[in-house]
Amino acid sequence: MSTRVLVTGAGGFIGHHLVKYLVAQGYWVRGVDIEHPEYEPSAAHEFELLDLRRFDNCLIATRGIDEVYHLAADMGGIGYITAFHADIARNSAMINLHTLEAARLSGTKRLLFSSSACVYPQYRQKNPEVTNLKEEDAYPAEPEEGYGTEKLFMESLCQYYHEDYGFETRVIRFHNVYGPLGTFEGGKEKAPAAICRKVALASDGDEIEVWGDGEQTRSFMHVDDCVKGIYRIMRSDYSGPLNLGTDELVTVNQLVDLVAETAGKRLIKRHDLSKPQGVRGRNSDNTKLYQVLGWEPQISLREGLEPTYHWIESELWRAGRVPEFA
Ligand code: NAD
Repeated sequence: MSTRVLVTGAGGFIGHHLVKYLVAQGYWVRGVDIEHPEYEPSAAHEFELLDLRRFDNCLIATRGIDEVYHLAADMGGIGYITAFHADIARNSAMINLHTLEAARLSGTKRLLFSSSACVYPQYRQKNPEVTNLKEEDAYPAEPEEGYGTEKLFMESLCQYYHEDYGFETRVIRFHNVYGPLGTFEGGKEKAPAAICRKVALASDGDEIEVWGDGEQTRSFMHVDDCVKGIYRIMRSDYSGPLNLGTDELVTVNQLVDLVAETAGKRLIKRHDLSKPQGVRGRNSDNTKLYQVLGWEPQISLREGLEPTYHWIESELWRAGRVPEFA
């Protein structure tokens, strides 16, 4: 009989891609979320709409399950996570505490928690010329308020469950994931998707708005690399936190230029300094990831933006909002 896995947050961006990947690997998959996936039906064998802030729902979600890929969270891009500290911290804390305890009580063998690079201290990220962040750099702590604070607490809880109950946990710190089938408007979208949307809606020679001065730096990982990494980390025997990201550092201005190039448009950037831009610089140190997996993300930003941009452009075209394809 095939292994039965639960993907929480299966209606979300990464969860939806992960479900497809796990089904293709031969797993029996239950997806759980408060919403169905936005852009195409789930590939899960069973999909249940459940609010995981409630413990009884977490017991329902984890019944008969061997392994949990726990991705459900109240989250969004920088605009969202800087505006709703209380909602995000409360909702995600309830989801996390209840899912972890229900998984243990249901006899699940292991749980993988999706943490974030937002756990890293702000004082290490004040410069666009970054020193890549190693896992041990998370302490002394000064995480992103709300979202990052909550993630850091859940990372510790996973460690305590491992130490006190012998429960197998895996912890991944994602660095900026992008790709097709991700939210690209409405307030929860992240920088690559927002920029693809703005570029798709612009005509050659137009101005587009960029948040901050655009000199803030990041690395961006394509979702296909992300799901491969998630799967490999779940199968590994390493239970400490691991970065999962690329170490290809770019400024947001360079990201805009790459998207504009992909679209074949010449655009003028209008920087809005009143908008949130997050930390000044951040990159992933993949030394430990490579030690554990003998693998790291492979897809370059240029390569990964191509399908992402064209998918967002085609969605806007279908909605009658762009006149023609590039
Ligand atoms: P997403 O918002 O697309 O997916 C999260 C899903 O959780 C959503 O579908 C949402 O409906 C669901 N959810 C929210 N509240 C729920 C509840 N009460 N009960 C059940 N489901 C609920 O986000 P994503 O980009 O797919 O991220 C997945 C995970 O990875 C999250 O834990 C996120 O914090 C983490 N992460 C993502 C990134 C990134 O760049 N995408 C970076 C760092 C960390």
